[in-house]
Amino acid sequence: MASLEEREVWFLTGSQSLYGDETLRQVARQSRQIAETLQGDPGVPGAPGAPVRIVWKPVLTDADAIRRICLEANSDDTCIGLIAWMHTFSPAKMWIAGLDALRKPLLHLHTQANVALPWSSMDMDFMNLNQAAHGDREFGYIQSRIGVTRKTVAGHVSDPSVAARIASWARAAAGRAELRGLRLARFGDNMRDVAVTEGDKVEAQLRFGASVNTYGVNDLVEAVDGTAEADVTELVEEYEDTYRVAPELRAGGDRHASLRYAARIELGLRAFLTAGGFRAFTTNFEDLGGLRQLPGLAVQRLMADGYGFGGEGDWKTSVLLRTLKVMSEGLPGGVSFMEDYTYHLEPGRELILGAHMLEVCPTIAAAVPSCEIHPLGIGGREDPVRLVFDAHTGPAVVVGLADMGDRFRLVANEIDVVEPVEPLPNLPVARAVWQPRPDLRTSTEAWLIAGAPHHTVLSSAAGTEEVGDLADMLGTELLVIDEDTGIRRFTQEIRWNQAYHRLAQGF
Ligand code: MN
Repeated sequence: MASLEEREVWFLTGSQSLYGDETLRQVARQSRQIAETLQGDPGVPGAPGAPVRIVWKPVLTDADAIRRICLEANSDDTCIGLIAWMHTFSPAKMWIAGLDALRKPLLHLHTQANVALPWSSMDMDFMNLNQAAHGDREFGYIQSRIGVTRKTVAGHVSDPSVAARIASWARAAAGRAELRGLRLARFGDNMRDVAVTEGDKVEAQLRFGASVNTYGVNDLVEAVDGTAEADVTELVEEYEDTYRVAPELRAGGDRHASLRYAARIELGLRAFLTAGGFRAFTTNFEDLGGLRQLPGLAVQRLMADGYGFGGEGDWKTSVLLRTLKVMSEGLPGGVSFMEDYTYHLEPGRELILGAHMLEVCPTIAAAVPSCEIHPLGIGGREDPVRLVFDAHTGPAVVVGLADMGDRFRLVANEIDVVEPVEPLPNLPVARAVWQPRPDLRTSTEAWLIAGAPHHTVLSSAAGTEEVGDLADMLGTELLVIDEDTGIRRFTQEIRWNQAYHRLAQGF
């Protein structure tokens, strides 16, 4: 799988031939500088800059060249999107054929080469060269006229907020590119009778690209049973070096065999997923075939390596998790499978405690996880090994994906992960405690009105802006619950969306 720095965004500059060679050379020089500024300095850690490669393309001055570059972008797998800027005036009929053919995400950058006007020296040559103020309006018109979905970003590229918004869009474009080729393996079907984890897998493949297929869990068992003892020993040593492993699980401890079996599951799962080119998977505790433990530790560690996961056959959340992992590459914070579990309803300090049976990703851990074994009151198998920890505090977002029958709906809630009110010495699973914005009552009422799922992806890395850009690129509904959400308006938004998305689908 390509990492972000292997992905390309092409930088297009629009102009026309009537300016003459000298002006067009200046246009080329300056647009190259803009592209370089956007790239930032990869040698400076933490410096603002694009997470993907920004590839400058020669200035476009006619309809045929524009159409050709759009077709090239469509067919080039490394190109995940286009940034377009009209440095000068580029008569927009020249863009019709290209934009009409374009199938990659587009960002319209509305900027100019200079920050300040050279008031005392400004002449007509300067005016001729620097006319994005109206050149980009011509371009905006034709995009709106055609109905091209795009992100519009205005401001000088030296402004960090401009670079940040472009970076968010590039991350979303990488998520979309990942989705186009994503393969997901399901071990078992959905948990029986659960509604929200169901969905239309054919529609998902058409809309998102992800292909979702089931494999017999005993095929996985074969891979698990086929792992070499030496590999198991090596992986168990890695566990002992990486986590605070409970004494009973350590070499020589009473329950060391359970840790060895957990390692065996991890090795078998990895081998299966690698061989099939899968970057996401689901399990179902009702269908474990010959597996002796429900996969806990293995799932947690695979998620930490970037795999998508959903419990109880929840392929939609698994697809979403893998996408957010790609979009979050290199950002501080983590991304995990999550489930709203239980509430702290103390007036004025209302909180949500999120967790799952076992499968929370250690990328959101506040400290070194402890590796423990406890009974699981469900599934009827041997006690599973799992990592236990509290989530790190700070702003995050939880995102859910539901199939509404005629379309998919994304719902995102901005949250603040906080310390648990008291330690949780008896809770044997990893967990996150958070304060949803704007408050628990509004957040939960909105979430329920939206029909959003109980399984989510919690991300303290990529946030609402990236998710919003992704939703636009996918043509998928997104409802955001944040500081500004009120129930009356939110309810109306759902009604309007219902009408919009049905009309937008056509007949
Ligand atoms: Mn669940």
